Amino acid sequence: MRVSASIKDNFASSSWIRRMFEEGQQLLREPGATGIYDFSLGNPDLEPPAEFAEVLDRITRDGASGSHGYMPNAGYPAVRTAVAARASRDQGIEIPASNIVMTVGAAGALNVTLRTLLDPGDEVIVISPWFAEYRFYVQNYGGVFVEVPAGPGFHLDLGAIEAALGPRTAALIINSPNNPTGTVYDHEELAGLAAILTRHGAVQGRQPCIIADEPYREIVYGDTVVPSIMALYPETIVATSWSKSLSLPGERIGYLAVSPLARNAREIVDGLVLSTRILGFVNAPALMQRVVAELLDSRADVASYERRGKILSEGLRDAGYEFSEPRGAFYIFCKVPPGGGAAFHPSRDVDFAMHLKKWRIMAVPGIGFGWGGWFRLSYCVPEATIRGALQGFALAMEEWRKG
Ligand code: PLP
Repeated sequence: MRVSASIKDNFASSSWIRRMFEEGQQLLREPGATGIYDFSLGNPDLEPPAEFAEVLDRITRDGASGSHGYMPNAGYPAVRTAVAARASRDQGIEIPASNIVMTVGAAGALNVTLRTLLDPGDEVIVISPWFAEYRFYVQNYGGVFVEVPAGPGFHLDLGAIEAALGPRTAALIINSPNNPTGTVYDHEELAGLAAILTRHGAVQGRQPCIIADEPYREIVYGDTVVPSIMALYPETIVATSWSKSLSLPGERIGYLAVSPLARNAREIVDGLVLSTRILGFVNAPALMQRVVAELLDSRADVASYERRGKILSEGLRDAGYEFSEPRGAFYIFCKVPPGGGAAFHPSRDVDFAMHLKKWRIMAVPGIGFGWGGWFRLSYCVPEATIRGALQGFALAMEEWRKG
């Protein structure tokens, strides 16, 4: 037996996030290790809200016979109905239960969608910096990964997106609130995107799908709202999960919502249901479907993420780092400062991540998101970790500037 060449390739380019996490674990194993400040993983440290345990307990005890069996591949009808009501509120458009497909997290949702939409050679546009797994997901189905750099403030560069569209464009993935930048796209840019794609579809006769990857929709700060792209563009599929909003990433539960206004909505939903089955997911976890259906108005302690984000961004700003203030999610994307004894080069993000390690700070180089010269800090970590790291960030900056 042997590992395929494509998986070997993927090993080689696979996640900087994992690599930095593992480097941190290595530091912890060194003799006399006192701890590290690990900002590498986007793994929420908060517990799910208290009502999660109550609902889980009740549902486990009251489980009727057959409640752990297979169900329709799209999920329990009652769960789909409940989720459709919530999704309709979020998206500002009436979504019937028949357009909801329960999934194995947002990652499962994205894979099911790409399996349904792509023929080999079809193109999928992604905005850089991107969530590192997108590249693998697109390649899984023979798709071509087309990167379009974000514009100022990591907002959409509509001109660049328009220039990247072609006859083989099957889909465009957008992620707002964004990992790794914390940017939330506003109504105007989404309306602009919808107009460009509509125009393109009219000319090409093929209307690209917008896949709105929204696992951070609930994690926004201040008066930030996440506008609905589905309300603006009919060919939209929303892929999301409760991984971040309820702090349940290990439970693998999410859903897909297909716009009822999509031209082939029925056929698309049928394709998603079939893909759920033939990719081997079969259905989303049964117990978790029943749990989340009762927690549709609950969420993890978003105020705590907001507080942590403020502490980290104030500390970074005082130390002289450059970044855009996150409006949602729990990441800060920082520019590698000038210095370090060499001329600036995008690959310096790896050097800088290694430099931060001297202060036991683990960050992820931007190259892991297709955006060299920057680095990502994930602040879903205890406040004490953030406060403890601030001096290290300041000293790292001082030493780097000296070269
Ligand atoms: N999309 C983005 C942008 C993410 O950051 C993540 C997880 O970190 C996912 C999708 C996958 O989420 P899930 O754990 O629900 O599969």
